[in-house]
Amino acid sequence: MEELLRRSEKLTTVGQLAAGVAHEIRNPLTTLRGFLQMQQRTKSINQMHTDIMLSELDRINLIVSEFLILAKPQAVLFEIKDVRFTLGDVISLLDSEAHLHNIEFQAHFSSSPILVHCEENQLKQVFINVLKNAMEAMPYGGKITLSLTEDNGREAVIQVIDEGEGIPKERLERLGEPFYTNKEKGTGLGLMVTQRIIEGHKGKMTIDSEVGKGTVVTITLPRVTEINKPEDVTTKKSLA
Ligand code: ADP
Ligand code: MG
Repeated sequence: MEELLRRSEKLTTVGQLAAGVAHEIRNPLTTLRGFLQMQQRTKSINQMHTDIMLSELDRINLIVSEFLILAKPQAVLFEIKDVRFTLGDVISLLDSEAHLHNIEFQAHFSSSPILVHCEENQLKQVFINVLKNAMEAMPYGGKITLSLTEDNGREAVIQVIDEGEGIPKERLERLGEPFYTNKEKGTGLGLMVTQRIIEGHKGKMTIDSEVGKGTVVTITLPRVTEINKPEDVTTKKSLA
């Protein structure tokens, strides 16, 4: 089992990341400039060119938004939530996109509440990132299994199991490194954001994968029980 990313911690100071972001957005900016210049000289940009320009702008926007999640010191509100509903909300959010790609979500949730102390929006971001990766790994469709259980009563265990292309060993080792992606439209920032948020929740993430078979992402979070229930459920805490 491969555990994510002690190594990336060294690489992820905001300054280094900023340099990476600058580098990553220079390419789409160059493309945009090229087309605008062509328009100025020849007045001949067509539909295809404007489509490319829009998608390059979208890419810049995506990189900058993911960077901001990492770079902004955020005042966050930790509350006790039943993670079954948090994950349920994310599934509904992504359901129609999944349908479009012939992907079916199959959820196996514990029948009793699984409470965690969390900043719910951040936790949703984690589930969105992991589910999107699972969906993107299955271009021909298939099933994504989501299981939500408790381990020893002390931990909430969330597993996302896909039937996608899988990840070769040499790639598995690099996951979570900023800008590491094998996708044409990827930013390679999603897993890093995910890992950061999970650490901020005192949780863990592991990724197991077999090429041609699929990938299992396991996230564990400390569970809130009667015994360890925090007194002040609205503690403000900064993740930065
Ligand atoms: P991005 O999705 O923008 O590429 P991420 O940080 O989310 O960036 O993921 C980094 C890389 O990890 C992906 O490009 C992909 O190669 C690999 N990866 C992550 N999740 C999966 C998965 N479920 N199946 C296959 N590969 C995955
Ligand atoms: Mg991703």
